[in-house]
Amino acid sequence: MTINNFKYFPFSLKLKNPFQTSSQTITERNGFIISISDELENTLFGECSPLPGFSLETIEDAERILRGLQYQIVGFSAEENLNSVAALLSEFHLVPSLQFALEQAVIGLIIKRNKNFIKDSFATVKSEFGVNAVIGFGEEENILDRINEKFNESYSTFKIKIGRDDFDLDYRIIQSVHEKFGDKIKIRLDANRKWSFENAKSFIERLAIFGIEYIEEPCSNLYDNLQLAQTSTVPIALDESLSSIEDVHKVISDGYINFIILKPMIYGGIISSLQIIQEAWKKNKNVIISSSFESAVGKSALVLLATLVNHSFAHGLDTSEYFKQDICRDLYEVNNGKIFFDHNNFPPHFDLSLS
Ligand SMILES: [Mg+2]
Repeated sequence: MTINNFKYFPFSLKLKNPFQTSSQTITERNGFIISISDELENTLFGECSPLPGFSLETIEDAERILRGLQYQIVGFSAEENLNSVAALLSEFHLVPSLQFALEQAVIGLIIKRNKNFIKDSFATVKSEFGVNAVIGFGEEENILDRINEKFNESYSTFKIKIGRDDFDLDYRIIQSVHEKFGDKIKIRLDANRKWSFENAKSFIERLAIFGIEYIEEPCSNLYDNLQLAQTSTVPIALDESLSSIEDVHKVISDGYINFIILKPMIYGGIISSLQIIQEAWKKNKNVIISSSFESAVGKSALVLLATLVNHSFAHGLDTSEYFKQDICRDLYEVNNGKIFFDHNNFPPHFDLSLS
């Protein structure tokens, strides 16, 4: 396969609900859609959208590289396998979000050329998987209503944000959720690094009676989270503590961490995510594929990854309420708390008007 054409287009999507990082409020998602064509005139897309506050690179970094890449990459060839794609892309100095975009487009081209590629390359490909509903902060009554609404839409896993200044309030809310829904739902919690080690230890001991699936990021730093995981009765999941692919590998091979929240746009792509999925599987750890507010284009690659993960825990790909209007139709909308996948129709056709 030879790359015959390469283009990129900026996009900007308004978020329905702005979100707060440690340093800023994000109200819109900016990125690039790249388009790559092969010598057979197949054209596939990939998304590059570094997430401010999480990605190591900025959108300006990505654009600078893209400007050069459009002159460099045309004429390059790869065989139709992942090793060859990795070798091709290693010729360029990419940043993680660009690695993601290029891998998405080039792997898309390979799948387009070889319809059996997915089936032949991976041991198991799921045709559906569950996603968690995310429940943000709010009054107790609103939280219960919100869970009830999603429960009626057949969601069964709920990720509830905690870490209020008053832990007793967190506790009461989780207690009420548990009283109302019992074992009918699975509860996972995200404390977003709010607690000290000592607080986390005692708070988690109290929450354990509610049968929590896992708690994300209880302590304010990686070291404390790793220490806590050694004795915690509730499994600890790591998300923002992991800032590089090296961190992820380290945690898989030598930690007590059982759940890894994997954000491929931030950690650097699809091929490295596949390696992590395989390694985690061998070590009996669970990778949860998670969105970093990608558009429908980038999300489709995350959906592919989630179908290749061999456990039945829900993934973090419910993106339905992110944008006022997505870049194009999302072909992987959530239905009955699940996303459905047909490998015969991947990569999907995106109706994009790019300029
Ligand atoms: Mg998190």
